[in-house]
Amino acid sequence: MGNLATNQKLDIFPTLTLKNDGQVGQSSYVHKKGKHSHIDDAKPKRKSESERLEIKYRTKKKLVNLLNAVGESKTAESMALCGARFDVLTCGQHIVAQTPNHRCNVRYCVLCANRRANKYQKKYLPFASAFLKFTVDELGRIVKRRTKITPCLLTLTQVKIKGEKLKDSRERVLSSFRNFIRHDFFDDYFDGGLFTVDNTTSDDGNHLHLHIVVFRKKFIDADLLKEEWAKVSEGAENLNIKRIEDVGTLEDGLRETIKYVSKPLDIENFEREHLLELLEIKGKRMIDTFGEFRKFCQIYKPEEKPEEEPKKEKQKLEEGNYCYHCNDDSVLFHVRMSAKQKIDFYRQIEARGSPPTQNQ
Ligand SMILES: [Zn+2]
Ligand SMILES: [Zn+2]
Repeated sequence: MGNLATNQKLDIFPTLTLKNDGQVGQSSYVHKKGKHSHIDDAKPKRKSESERLEIKYRTKKKLVNLLNAVGESKTAESMALCGARFDVLTCGQHIVAQTPNHRCNVRYCVLCANRRANKYQKKYLPFASAFLKFTVDELGRIVKRRTKITPCLLTLTQVKIKGEKLKDSRERVLSSFRNFIRHDFFDDYFDGGLFTVDNTTSDDGNHLHLHIVVFRKKFIDADLLKEEWAKVSEGAENLNIKRIEDVGTLEDGLRETIKYVSKPLDIENFEREHLLELLEIKGKRMIDTFGEFRKFCQIYKPEEKPEEEPKKEKQKLEEGNYCYHCNDDSVLFHVRMSAKQKIDFYRQIEARGSPPTQNQ
């Protein structure tokens, strides 16, 4: 089969449509799915990449309009440009890499969300891993731990107050939390941790909770912990604690907590007043450390590991190299695409079976 030559790149869309027809068996991926993949399509399944992207861009559009409506035209402008165009590295059948023209880094931008979560994950994972083995002594020195600590996931919710503003609700839950961790009993059982603030909006108003990775020194009964939380939170009854090792690795546990810094907005119900509430807490932290773990993060210097793997990957990610998804000798080349073109491209790839892709 003929590969798309570099000089054909401007014709990528018509060419892709042609390639879509009958020549798909060359992709290593498609071999696995075979030609019966349409049978799977009848079942309800998770959204495809193109569907997810469509929703994200619809959300972005709504946010841009709302931002303009409330006079935040600078933010609106930056968000409008965010992920509007891409430089895509492709063999014509797969997307191997993609670079957006612009990232707005607005906290509630749906296109920047994954990137934001990944940034925190990368930042805190080395500290959390090291904290299992080391700690800080009274003189501020990093020392080996003598006893085992158990990282746990803790969720704290608060009593709902109808009509309470996001800003007030956030301050209330954080103030309860500060009192909670200031208690002597807390230090007896825990060595600090990391938390994110999460909001679920319903008709009743805002409902904030804290998702926490907490390092447990000593077993504590959940009911006892619940009682202590109720004392400082005007009687909140919901508390959940579980060991991270029961749900996965430390990395999984951290991600489970950090994902709330980039939880997708419930855009169907997201209106002007919600945006105004978000703007009120602009610049406030959504993630923070506390207790011994906080001290540790300030002192400990993670080792810089030479990263072998990504380098190898990088060699492949150049124009003119072979596509590693293809079994044939398809060559990679760059194409400029608008967001809409990229979504169409995904849809074409998905029509041949869901693709291995490289996001952002
Ligand atoms: Zn963005
Ligand atoms: Zn390929």
